[in-house]
Amino acid sequence: MTSTEAFIAAAEAHSAHNYQPLPVVVATAEGAWMTDVTGRRYLDLLAGYSALNFGHRNRRLLDAARAQLERVTLTSRAFHHDRFADFCTQLADLCGMELVLPMNTGTEAVETAVKTVRKWGYKVKGVPDGRARIVVAENNFHGRSTTVVSFSTDPEARADFGPYTPGFTVVPYGDLAALDAAVDADTVAVLLEPIQGEAGVVVPPRGYLAGVCELTRARNVLFVADEIQSGLGRTGTTFACEHEGVVPDVYVLGKALGGGVVPVSAVVSSREVLGVFRPGEHGSTFGGNPLACAVGLEVIALLRTGEYQRRAAELGDHLHRALAPLVGGGAVDAVRGRGLWAGIDVNPSRGDGRAVAERLLARGVLVKETHDATIRIAPPLVISEEDLDWGLARLREVLGV
Ligand code: PLP
Repeated sequence: MTSTEAFIAAAEAHSAHNYQPLPVVVATAEGAWMTDVTGRRYLDLLAGYSALNFGHRNRRLLDAARAQLERVTLTSRAFHHDRFADFCTQLADLCGMELVLPMNTGTEAVETAVKTVRKWGYKVKGVPDGRARIVVAENNFHGRSTTVVSFSTDPEARADFGPYTPGFTVVPYGDLAALDAAVDADTVAVLLEPIQGEAGVVVPPRGYLAGVCELTRARNVLFVADEIQSGLGRTGTTFACEHEGVVPDVYVLGKALGGGVVPVSAVVSSREVLGVFRPGEHGSTFGGNPLACAVGLEVIALLRTGEYQRRAAELGDHLHRALAPLVGGGAVDAVRGRGLWAGIDVNPSRGDGRAVAERLLARGVLVKETHDATIRIAPPLVISEEDLDWGLARLREVLGV
């Protein structure tokens, strides 16, 4: 099989249609660039939904993975292995926390966080059995499992997947008064994205995260920050919560934690919170496997250099300076974001998000729409300023500005 059309037709014939990919078939990648089966190159401005913060095939991550492939890849948690302690110690330290519970995908880590805070509610806070509630935000995206879609407000994500898991209260994102009113004696946690990624890179009003932190502390409720997309360098800091000087009670991490090499996710918290688990109560065959730990350790080492956070901050300023003048000229209705991460609401006169993404594809730039009218820009943090500028020039071209 060699042609783009043949690959796509074969995939259409034999895969469930849960995605609608752009018509490009990638064969290889390096840094911020991908090459398709016909040899055409594309600038990647999506970075695997921020799983590729360190770039495609980052040398250090590949070396770490290769070295581990030569030793041992999987033990299951039935036995100890020699990368596990180091990974948990280093990740806890990066987060300023005490304990780590490794999983694989983001959804699994969110599920794990839900179970963690419910158990904490019963065992530590003293909530009556079966009554624990978790407050979440409108337009959230935390994954695709039945429990997680139970508290989604996106009809596309929820419809036909019921019956739904109870125990969640939804409040408007960014509204502290609504959050305050929603917290009651049975509330065990507030679960939020510090910046809502899939909603269109929605940054909450200044002071919101600090307010959530203060409120949850005062009411004996855990603040769970889902930093699966916002964390690990994307916004110019290791965690997006840092922009408000906030440390939540629980971090939920994924995506870039596996460096785009293997799925690695984790729940990270205090001994009081994650200490609620006893052997046999929760687990995963692959969670915390040697290959995942080896790659995750190298990700942590990359983050400790501070280089990626610095690049995201500097290039992010550059990106937002370039995008701001586009607003109001008829092509772009709004731009939001922080660091090397932007949501661009395209005016309907320029077509919907999908049409813009397809026009960019034709010019050698890969982006993906989120919802109908928003284009997300989230390149690998290793992108050069020249390449970013080249991609932005293509964007201006397709928007006609
Ligand atoms: N939480 C957030 C904030 C996300 O952005 C995502 C994925 O986009 C998830 C959870 C789910 O992660 P995964 O797709 O790895 O299950």
